[in-house]
Amino acid sequence: MAHRVVIVGGGFAGLYAAKALRSAPVSVTLIDRRNFHLFQPLLYQVATGGLSPGEIASPLRFVLRWSKNTEVLLGEVVDLDAANRRVILRDGEAGFDTLIVATGASHHYFGNDQWERLAPGLKTIEDATEIRRRILLAYEKAEREPDEESRRAWLTFVVVGGGPTGVELAGALGEIANDTLRHDFRHINPADSRILLVEGTDRVLPAFPPDLSAKAEESLVRLGVRPVTGAMVTAIDESGVAVRRGGETERIGARTVLWAAGVEASPLGRVLAERAGAQLDRAGRVIVEPDLTIAEHPEILVIGDLANFSHQTGKPLPGVAPVAMQQGRYAAHLVRKRLAGESAPPFHYWDKGSLATIGRAAAVADFGRIHISGYVAWLTWLFVHLMYLVEFDNRLLVFIQWAYNYFTFNRGARLITRNQP
Ligand SMILES: Cc1cc2nc3c(=O)[nH]c(=O)nc-3n(C[C@H](O)[C@H](O)[C@H](O)COP(=O)(O)OP(=O)(O)OC[C@H]3O[C@@H](n4cnc5c(N)ncnc54)[C@H](O)[C@@H]3O)c2cc1C
Repeated sequence: MAHRVVIVGGGFAGLYAAKALRSAPVSVTLIDRRNFHLFQPLLYQVATGGLSPGEIASPLRFVLRWSKNTEVLLGEVVDLDAANRRVILRDGEAGFDTLIVATGASHHYFGNDQWERLAPGLKTIEDATEIRRRILLAYEKAEREPDEESRRAWLTFVVVGGGPTGVELAGALGEIANDTLRHDFRHINPADSRILLVEGTDRVLPAFPPDLSAKAEESLVRLGVRPVTGAMVTAIDESGVAVRRGGETERIGARTVLWAAGVEASPLGRVLAERAGAQLDRAGRVIVEPDLTIAEHPEILVIGDLANFSHQTGKPLPGVAPVAMQQGRYAAHLVRKRLAGESAPPFHYWDKGSLATIGRAAAVADFGRIHISGYVAWLTWLFVHLMYLVEFDNRLLVFIQWAYNYFTFNRGARLITRNQP
């Protein structure tokens, strides 16, 4: 019987591992609770009506259709029997010789889980369409609201967290207010919207060099966004937020609050800790060995956002797609080497740089000593994201849709779905 590789999770890490095992003499089972691979870096475009869900997702079966040694299972892994080398699904089980766990991470409300309902985060297609619904509904409500203060609250949007996702969301909100909806309403002027981006540290994009944070802030301000740095959201309710800055707390009436702060690892990290003795960090990520395995279990690898790999810089590698993709490829390489009776050098991340976009024609790019901002950075961002869209169909569709949006200022997927009567 061929060596059985079970991969849990068809995100960037799991999918790239599966693709890299295509011609290996192994039998691969990829298990995901979704039947599709999601291109998360473009989720904010779905959340703001620029793209439709189908344009940023590809069915896993389709992506892996030519990998004849690979089967795809739709199922949720809930437990692990490490001694007998089995993963337990909600509705079955699968045996393995090598297990690759790549179930990612989600958002974290720092102990305020009740905020989740009031301030959705952006991680899944459902999150994106829910955020889209809230943004568009806010304008509909404002249009029919006679009371000025209430109308102002409907036209106030607070984004919590000034990392790349928060900046992308806030920038897109600025465009919606100033360009996309410009001619659409009769009783309100969408350009009167207040868009606040609340960030705890003293600058937006704190993981970028300070000069690029400053450029990003300038671009945000041009789009009508007010960055509120050095500030913490201390309360959220149906009608607004409380923001503490310095020693003062300000109450802001806002009917739309979006969450882009805090990351928590997938619950499978805890399962690995309980069943296989894996060590976890404070965010619940699994601390992995230099070859991405867990201590005492060379047959179990953890990759992508779920892994804490600190062997290269002394700090965990960032939770970004290139880390996940490279770890996926490395995991496949390690499996091949072992089967050939050889060893592999430790995993090494090749950091090609970081990008964040702010609206339709500005971005910042950090390539080590080279920092780019503005239109050129945005073109780079566009190129990189199109290149990495998994399937050609999607790539072409997204490109056409983007080009259309770019020239018309339109966002054609402005649909309010799952509307409450
Ligand atoms: C809004 C947003 C924007 C981002 N923008 C960027 C960007 O611009 N550039 C960048 O480099 N990175 C970006 N990232 C980060 C990047 O998307 C992640 O680093 C990357 O997706 C991690 O890949 P992964 O495979 O570890 O996890 P994921 O891609 O999250 O995949 C995890 C998979 O596991 C499946 N799964 C989870 N639990 C189970 C279970 N119990 N059983 C079965 N299946 C399970 C999920 O359905 C999912 O398919 C962004 C992330 C978000 C959320």
